[in-house]
Amino acid sequence: MKLNEIVELDKKYYMNTFGNRTPVCFDHGKGINLWDSDGKKYYDFLAGIAVSALGHSHPKLVNAIKEQAEKLIHCSNLYYIENQAKLAKILVDNSCADKVFFANSGAEANEGAIKLARIFFKKKGMPEKFEIITLEKSFHGRTLATIAATGQDKYQKPYSPLTPSFLKVPINDLEALEKAINGSTCAVMIEPIQGESGVNLTTIEYMHGVRKLCDEKGILLIFDEVQCGLGRTGKLFAYEHFGIEPDIFTLAKALGGGFPIGALCAKEHVASAFEPGDHGSTFGGNPLACAAGLAVMEVMINDKLVKNSEEMGSYFLDKLSGFTEKYDFVKEIRGKGLMIGIQLTIDKAAEIKNKCFDKGYLIGSVGNNILRLLPPLIVTKEDIDGLVNVLDNIFREY
Ligand SMILES: *Cc1c(COP(=O)(O)O)cnc(C)c1O
Repeated sequence: MKLNEIVELDKKYYMNTFGNRTPVCFDHGKGINLWDSDGKKYYDFLAGIAVSALGHSHPKLVNAIKEQAEKLIHCSNLYYIENQAKLAKILVDNSCADKVFFANSGAEANEGAIKLARIFFKKKGMPEKFEIITLEKSFHGRTLATIAATGQDKYQKPYSPLTPSFLKVPINDLEALEKAINGSTCAVMIEPIQGESGVNLTTIEYMHGVRKLCDEKGILLIFDEVQCGLGRTGKLFAYEHFGIEPDIFTLAKALGGGFPIGALCAKEHVASAFEPGDHGSTFGGNPLACAAGLAVMEVMINDKLVKNSEEMGSYFLDKLSGFTEKYDFVKEIRGKGLMIGIQLTIDKAAEIKNKCFDKGYLIGSVGNNILRLLPPLIVTKEDIDGLVNVLDNIFREY
C-alpha cells in the first residue's frame, strides 16, 4: 500500500489517540537502521521508545521467536512454563530481586507493583497503609491506577475522578518527601531517571535519603525501571548507579526487544505477600513472550551490551556537550548511558525532530523544548557521529 492510503485507512478506522503521526510507515529494519516503504533508510535513535535494545531484527531474537512459535505460542499459567521459569531465574541472578512475575506491559507491571505494596501491608495486619507517594513529572503508565501515580496533569485531567491514594512530591526534595509520608503511606514509587518527561535525573544523595526514609518509616521503595532498566543507562539496572536497592522494581520496554512483556520483580519478604489467587494474567509470561525475553537477556549479557551502553553513552554525552558552548539556545545536555536529553531554551524541539527525520534520523521530542535520544544499545561511534553531525547542521540554522 502507498503511504497516503495507509494514512487514509488509519484516519478512518483507528482511534485518533496519536493525532498526526510522523508521515512514514516502516517496512523493515536491521540493527540501528529502518527502511520505509519507499526504501529510504533511517537511523533509529529512539528505538521504539527504549524498546528495541538489540536493534531491529536481531537474528538471535528473531530465531528464538520463530522457533518458539513453531513449538508452542501459548498455553496458560495453569501449567508450568519452562521459558518463564528460566527468564525469571536470569532476572533474579542478575538483580537484587528474589522473585519475578510477568505482565504484558509497563503499566501492567506497575499495577502489579502497586497491588503487591498494598497486599504486603494488608497481610501484615496494617490495612491502613495503602497510599503511594510518587514524583511530579513522573510517568508510570496509562491505566487508571498508573495515571493516578503519574505526576503529569495532561494524562490525568480527562479521567477524573482519579484512582485515590497517590500523593505527589517534587523530584530531589527529601524534605517534601519526609513531610508527605504519613500513617497511610505504604510505598514510595520512583523512576530512577524520569524518561517521558524529558530525562530528569535523581541525585545520589536524594536516592540514599529516600532509601533511608523508607527504612526508618517501614515503607516500601518501588523503582519503575520500565524505561531506564535493562542496560539503558549503562548499568543493567538503573538502581546500581546509586548503591541502593529497591524492595520492588518493574521492567518492560526493552525486555522483549519489541515483543510485549513486562516484569514485576521483588525481594522475597515482599514477594511472598502474593499467595495463590492474589494476582494473575492470561498472557503474562507465556512461552513466546519469555522466549523473546530470554533471547534479549542472553544477547545483552553475552554481547556485553551494557558495557557498550556505558561507553557509547559517555562518548555521546561528550560529543553533545560541545553544543552547550557552541549554541546559546542549547541549555543542558543530561543523561546516563544511552538515555539522553537535550534541553533547549527555544520552543523548537518538534521542528528540530522533524528536520532530523527529513535527514533520516529518528529522535524524540518532549514538550516544546527537550530532545530525547534513546538509541539501541548496539549503537556505534560512527552512528553517533552521524547524528551529532546532523544535529550540528540543523542547530546552525537557529
Ligand atoms: C513507558 C513507561 C511505562 C508504561 O509502559 P507501557 O508498556 O506503555 O504500559 C511506565 N513507566 C515508565 C517509566 C515508562 O517509561
